Amino acid sequence: MTDAPSAAGPDSAPTSALRTLLEGLQAGPLGEEIQATIAELYPLCRSITGDGLRASLKILQRTAPLTLQEVPSGTPVLDWVVPREWNLRRARLRGPDGTVLADTDVSNLHVLNYSVPFAGDVSLEELQPHLHSLPEAPELIPYRTSYYQDAWGFCLPHAVRQQLPPGKYRVEIDTTLQDGALSYGELLVPGQEAVEVLVSTHCCHPSLANDNCAGMAMCALLARMLRGLHLRYSYRFLFVPGTIGAITWLARNEATAPRIAHGLVAACVGDKGRLTYKRSRRGTAEVDRAAVHVLQHSGADFEVRDFTPYGYDERQYCSPGFNLAVGSLTRTPYGEYPEYHTSADNLLLVRPENVVDTLRRYLEVFEVLEGNRTYRNLSPKGEPQLGKRGLYGALGGQSHAQARQMAMLWVLNQSDGTTSLLDIAERAKLPFPQVRWAASALEGAGLLAAVASPGRT
Ligand code: ZN
Repeated sequence: MTDAPSAAGPDSAPTSALRTLLEGLQAGPLGEEIQATIAELYPLCRSITGDGLRASLKILQRTAPLTLQEVPSGTPVLDWVVPREWNLRRARLRGPDGTVLADTDVSNLHVLNYSVPFAGDVSLEELQPHLHSLPEAPELIPYRTSYYQDAWGFCLPHAVRQQLPPGKYRVEIDTTLQDGALSYGELLVPGQEAVEVLVSTHCCHPSLANDNCAGMAMCALLARMLRGLHLRYSYRFLFVPGTIGAITWLARNEATAPRIAHGLVAACVGDKGRLTYKRSRRGTAEVDRAAVHVLQHSGADFEVRDFTPYGYDERQYCSPGFNLAVGSLTRTPYGEYPEYHTSADNLLLVRPENVVDTLRRYLEVFEVLEGNRTYRNLSPKGEPQLGKRGLYGALGGQSHAQARQMAMLWVLNQSDGTTSLLDIAERAKLPFPQVRWAASALEGAGLLAAVASPGRT
């Protein structure tokens, strides 16, 4: 942040690096880049371990230099153990007449993710318990997993399943489940302070675009954008397989975790639904207030929900032994759009402009966190005369003059050494950047002095 006090007039009050970045965002080119990354990630067969996951992280490395961490199978991680590594060569199901009914070369959703290897002929009766379909969406292939229980299976459209004739079916599931490693990606963008903002996204789903190729692409881009900025906080980006990846990171970083003062879990960031913020377990942490504030001033419809111990990896970060201030900012929440966990969560569902819109809100939340400080009015008896300091007359005739003046009056009136800029923005119902700008201008004029950072709630 370029927070150095300025002696010049209010129009030259320092603008934060994030504000400058936000104002210069080129939605078109960004959207194209996001779309290209999602399209590249989409066909890969990811899982909670394996080469598809590794290849995906390597694709993201071209956007931001995340480090690939490899944790061996069998490693105890909190109450869990890193599982054997799963890899798929191909899985095919053929009917009695040789017709191919499911083939992972067509869609990797066709195999039960983490299927043990199996080859053999089975009757329709023997096959049925191994089939997964959606009667309520008979044309779609469901996404199913069996990570922690040895099983094999196929996922196929219910309409196909209903037509299966009696007879012998040929099952070929060419997978391996062997000791290997769990991979995850990590990148720390250092700031002035060791205090961290966590951005975590899951990267274990196979061909599902919104859940979560879009989240992976957006987070890599966010990391790239923050690198090179002069930041107050350090930003830790995690690209982890769901549940086990977050648990593995927490197990290996118990000493680091308390540095995380604010965090967001990103997923489902590209559908056309409104933005949804799920509060952290703490409920009113600074990140919760910052996210709600940003959504309230976004000019778009949004929803705020309380914490529940279900969803994505906020469940792990908010477990009581860590209780990190980590919320989740998504568009339509998991399970609430009809394409969720089916073959219809494809490249058509994700619109790049929606991902760019979500990305913009993430940056705005960071802007609030970065700029939220507490000040003390150095001329607290009566209103200081703004005109003689160039903070009043200089604004004459400008359309935004009144709004800026109002923000200055709020900051002066509320800055008693205990009230933060976010407190003021909430109370005044003013957008945070305006309040932040007013504080910079007043600080530059010697009317305001920062006190210690706001408490980490
Ligand atoms: Zn999912």
